[in-house]
Amino acid sequence: MVAEDEAALRRARGPQPPDLLRLHETVASLFATQGDWRRAYQHLRSALDIARDGSLRDALTSSYNRRYLDERLYGPLTGHQTARPRPPLAIALIDLDRFKRVNDTYGHLVGDRVLRRVADLLQEELPEDGFCARYGGEEFVLWLPGVDVGDAVRIVDAARLRVARHPWSELQPGLCVTISAGLAHDSAAEPDADATPERQLRCADTLLYAAKRAGRNKVAYHDAQTTRLITHSE
Ligand code: GH3
Ligand code: MG
Ligand code: MG
Repeated sequence: MVAEDEAALRRARGPQPPDLLRLHETVASLFATQGDWRRAYQHLRSALDIARDGSLRDALTSSYNRRYLDERLYGPLTGHQTARPRPPLAIALIDLDRFKRVNDTYGHLVGDRVLRRVADLLQEELPEDGFCARYGGEEFVLWLPGVDVGDAVRIVDAARLRVARHPWSELQPGLCVTISAGLAHDSAAEPDADATPERQLRCADTLLYAAKRAGRNKVAYHDAQTTRLITHSE
C-alpha cells in the first residue's frame, strides 16, 4: 500500500531533477552533433547546475544535506564569519522523538514518509536566507540568520507545534510524531567568546539533550540574560 502510494506520488510530481539532467545532456549532445556549440554549452550548463544542486540535497527529504551544511559551517560559501558587524545567527538542532519506535511499529517505509513530511513542515516559515538541512538519520538543522533570540525561539517552537499538531493518523492510524530541539543563538554566547557557527551547533546539541531529558516535544535554549535553560511545551 505504501509502495503504491509512493509510485502515485512520483507520477503526480512530474519530471524530477535526474530526468531533467538527462534531458539537458541528451539535448546538448544533439546540438553538439549539429555543431551548434553555443546551444550545446547552454544545456550542459543547465545540466551542471542541476547536478550541483542535487549534490547538496538529501535524496530522501529533498532538504539540504550534510555536505551543504558543512559548506556553510566551514566553507567559503558564507560571509557570516567574516562580515562585520556580524549578522545575528541562530542554529537549531532537531531530533525526532522515539523515532525508532515508529520504524519498529509501522515499518521503515512509513518511517521514511514521516521523515519527508517532517522536513516539509520544518521548511515552512523560515526567515530569508534561512534553510533546513538533514544533519543525518532523524536529525535536522535549522539555520536562522538575521533573527533575534525571541524570534528564533518563536520560529523553532512554531515548527515543533506544526509537527505535533500534524494529522499523522491520516498516514497511519495511531501514529503520533513529535520533535525536540536545542537552539543556540550567537548573542547568548559570552561576549569575549568567538561564537562560530560550529560552536553554536555543538551548543545546540547539548541543549537538544536537555530537551530530551526534560521529557521531549520541547525547545531548549539559553536565555541571553540569565543563560537559564528554558523549555517550552504545549
Ligand atoms: P530519541 O527520542 O531519544 O531520539 O529516540 P529515537 O528512537 O528517536 O532515537 P534512536 O537514536 O534510538 O533511533 C533513531 C532511529 O532513526 C533509528 C534509525 O533506524 C532511524 N533512522 C535513521 N535514519 C533513518 C531513515 O533514513 N529512515 C528511517 N525509516 N529510519 C531512520
Ligand atoms: Mg537522533
Ligand atoms: Mg530521535
